[in-house]
Amino acid sequence: MFNKLVIASGNKGKLREIQHILSPLQIEIIPQSALNVPECEEPFCTFIENALAKARHASKHTGLPALADDSGLCVDALQGGPGVLSARFAGEPKSDENNNQKLLEVMANEKNRHAHFYCVMVLVQHEHDPEPLIAEGMWVGEILTEYRGTDGFGYDPLFLDTKTGKTVAELPLEIKSRISHRGHAMTKLLQKLERLSHE
Ligand code: IMP
Repeated sequence: MFNKLVIASGNKGKLREIQHILSPLQIEIIPQSALNVPECEEPFCTFIENALAKARHASKHTGLPALADDSGLCVDALQGGPGVLSARFAGEPKSDENNNQKLLEVMANEKNRHAHFYCVMVLVQHEHDPEPLIAEGMWVGEILTEYRGTDGFGYDPLFLDTKTGKTVAELPLEIKSRISHRGHAMTKLLQKLERLSHE
């Protein structure tokens, strides 16, 4: 087993959540920015392909095992969009505020507010790892017509968790980490890692 893991992301919100979830483990967690890994292209139309590309890229540049998260918001009324384009829904440069504003606009007259967050996590032990660990998670909810809450990142203030009646931006990190797409994916990934370490 390894004792260092590079996180293949520059997204501060994601990094905060991943670090929080991994904190009980005896593994040194290193954001790729600390090792000067250049940003990776994400040209693919599926989350899994982009996650694999990011994990391999970070591992190649650092020589360390790497964990990538590719995730996004999939809205039923937008045929699953913005999906893999979630980070740049409103164009470049990436901006959560502009993305949320655009989401409000395109959903303004829409009655069907169903949506889900999706996350796929990929862990490679080295650049050419033929057996990457892969796990996915989903979080079903609804898109609101106005912002609520100030925590989190991305679309959190517009995404209502219908079970708690709160937006993600109103949920503490501990709760989000337990019930989110990222939390579910990470739990499954850690189970796979655990099994591997006992083989
Ligand atoms: P990626 O870095 O290409 O995987 O893009 C992820 C994008 O999906 C983020 O920039 C957000 O716009 C959105 N996203 C993913 N997970 C979350 C979340 O937990 N809350 C809010 N937005 C999220």
